[in-house]
Amino acid sequence: MTSSERPFLNRRLAEFGTTIFAEMSALALSTGSINLGQGFPDTDGPEEVREAAVRALREGRGNQYPPGPGVPELRTAIAAHQERRYGLSYDPDAEVLVTAGATEAIAAALLALVEPGDEVVALEPYYDSYAACIAMAGGTRVPVTLRPDGGAFRLDLDELRAAVTPRTRLLLINTPHNPTGTVLTRAELTAIAELAVERDLLVVTDEVYEHLVYDAAEHVPLATLPGMRGRTVTIGSAGKTFSFTGWKVGWVTSTPELVTAVRSAKQFLTYVSSGPFQYAVAEALRLPDAYFDNFRTDLQRKRDLLGDGLRAAGFEVYQPQGTYFITTDITPLGEKDAHAFCRALPERCGVVAIPNSVFYDDPDAGRSQVRFAFCKKDEVLTEAASRLRRLAP
Ligand SMILES: *Cc1c(COP(=O)(O)O)cnc(C)c1O
Repeated sequence: MTSSERPFLNRRLAEFGTTIFAEMSALALSTGSINLGQGFPDTDGPEEVREAAVRALREGRGNQYPPGPGVPELRTAIAAHQERRYGLSYDPDAEVLVTAGATEAIAAALLALVEPGDEVVALEPYYDSYAACIAMAGGTRVPVTLRPDGGAFRLDLDELRAAVTPRTRLLLINTPHNPTGTVLTRAELTAIAELAVERDLLVVTDEVYEHLVYDAAEHVPLATLPGMRGRTVTIGSAGKTFSFTGWKVGWVTSTPELVTAVRSAKQFLTYVSSGPFQYAVAEALRLPDAYFDNFRTDLQRKRDLLGDGLRAAGFEVYQPQGTYFITTDITPLGEKDAHAFCRALPERCGVVAIPNSVFYDDPDAGRSQVRFAFCKKDEVLTEAASRLRRLAP
């Protein structure tokens, strides 16, 4: 406190303390636990992509400020990727913007598109930066909660419709969804699209796990649905798709007007970032389909490896159809409070996980849910599973 007794952190951010990941990663370190808290792979992405970054750096490409919208090679590769995978055509010069990861894309989109007092409807549990970015933009967040239903989390479309008011400016959608692993179906996304068109809403859609969908699930970009291309800001990232979360290369695709708006905010956040890595990601996006297929198959197998271990240890497992994460319920273990459970877990069995309660406005909503990341080496997952067996009732 200063002498005026005014706290340093402003009122917009006061409710957001240190993220749970800092607390739990510190605990992992101090106890020597296996960290299944934060979602980062423990194996780096493809060798040829790393080599492409080294080459760019050596050849002096991107060592100085790259162009504000991103290097042309990457913007062209992003547009080609959207066309090849989804039949969505974007002009690399006017409709693609490179950002410092999806994190900056989310922040810039909200800062650019939200007026103070606007309502932003977002799926809850939230990815942790959403609530803070809505607050920084002066918006009001209106959660629509995904709820367990038949062994997985589902969106209640009536609840979504009821959340939209005359003050709603935009829908913030995330599919595949972190932390629940829900992949919204074409029918659900069609209903979201119809609502957006009917109520004339903008949609910001976080699709960073677009390539990580399992079983028969299909990733359907919202921008492909009728009436959506002109009102949708689509966010992607190289971090999750290519296992380079430290590179922080993300992007936005949308109309020229919306991209210009987002760029207006982005230019005063980082201006530009990740110069040489942008060239490497341009090459990564052109990897053959086999890369994406193998990566998905590998992660699906890891999901099953950890999922089986969690079930054997007594957790209720909500089967994820996408992402890096499994959300569980600890009630069958005779536990009630996920936060207390996660604080004790490193001492009890040497594993770190994240309590989902931190992703809800009302912490009671996710009180008994715990999230585990499975983007780890098989031997790490096997060891974690065997440690967690000690919990079995
Ligand atoms: C990891 C993640 C991000 C952040 O992506 P970066 O490219 O690392 O900034 C954004 N949204 C969701 C849902 C994520 O899981």
